[in-house]
Amino acid sequence: MSDRFPGPDFVPTFTAVMTNSQPRQPIVIAGPCGAETENQSLETARRLKATGKVHMLRAGIWKPRTRPGSFEGMGETGLQWLMTAMAETGLPAMTEVATPDHVALVLKAGLKNVWIGARSTVNPFVVQEIADAVKGVRDLTVFVKNPVNPDADLWMGAIERFHRAGVKEVHAIHRGFSAYKPVKYRNEPMWEIPLRLKRLAPEIKLFCDPSHICGRRELLLDVAQKALDLIYDGLMIETHIEPDKALSDARQQITPAELDTLLKSLAIRSSSIKDAALIESLSDLRGKIDQIDQELIALIGERMQVAEAIGKIKKEKHITILQPERWNEIKKQYSEGAGQNSLSEEFIEKYLEALHQESIRRQTKVMR
Ligand code: PEP
Ligand code: MN
Repeated sequence: MSDRFPGPDFVPTFTAVMTNSQPRQPIVIAGPCGAETENQSLETARRLKATGKVHMLRAGIWKPRTRPGSFEGMGETGLQWLMTAMAETGLPAMTEVATPDHVALVLKAGLKNVWIGARSTVNPFVVQEIADAVKGVRDLTVFVKNPVNPDADLWMGAIERFHRAGVKEVHAIHRGFSAYKPVKYRNEPMWEIPLRLKRLAPEIKLFCDPSHICGRRELLLDVAQKALDLIYDGLMIETHIEPDKALSDARQQITPAELDTLLKSLAIRSSSIKDAALIESLSDLRGKIDQIDQELIALIGERMQVAEAIGKIKKEKHITILQPERWNEIKKQYSEGAGQNSLSEEFIEKYLEALHQESIRRQTKVMR
């Protein structure tokens, strides 16, 4: 199956990677969370190159850490290792920049690809400072990670700041969103946010960073597969020669050999349908779906009219719109019945929440 991943061409820019890649082949960016030692940086790069499936190298040189005192990156020394790895393997390299000083050092070293971390994207002042620092730089590619909070417009705003600074290649990396109490993932994927971004800016390339979404290596494959099924353009996956000894993000890193296996296990499905019989049977089913959707929407419209009628009574009788007891009763009743219709409780909850919000909006109008 490895033939689905053509060997990367030895070019130092992202534009050349894209030009030489084949349609529907994910662009693979891999490398350690952080450059730690010369041997770790170079050996990881060599082994990634040897897989023949990696198009770009990544390594953090300045690491944004939650608490002070953790490994904060090797700075300029690490940058030199990354440059050596790039020269030796021919793979274009990239690193994170978070200040104009980082930009100056990276450009002085001759690196042409940078990414903006999630903690920077969240702050328009920081993004603007970095955008000002790259103004007029030719052949630069900027990858913008999503902000830590689920806000597609803020993400889009950061991308626009780089466009306005004259950067032609600006792309997006989806690394998930902070949760107060992470359950399964370290950072909630919330797939609807990157899909909204793609609608806002269809021309950007969208990458998925399963490593920072998952936080642990066992989950990487499923998330990477989902990204490909949602027609992402590529993946960024953290790799280390000795993941368990990594100075940052140890649990989510995998070896270059494990990356090779993971990439081989991914199914690359076609995003266009050409087979006539398939088109026919799908159009039959799609017709049914359209019919059901129309009926559902008509019913919801009817439901809202009933809600308005209730709103009028509430107004006359001076009772509040929100009736928590009634609402909790509805939620309980339907959540318990979810399984009978093979619907997940999570879906029912989201659906009821949306209905409730719209009912409140309509009743508020009636109350005025
Ligand atoms: C990283 O890629 O190593 C990193 C720090 O990412 P993020 O900004 O997504 O946390
Ligand atoms: Mn990391």
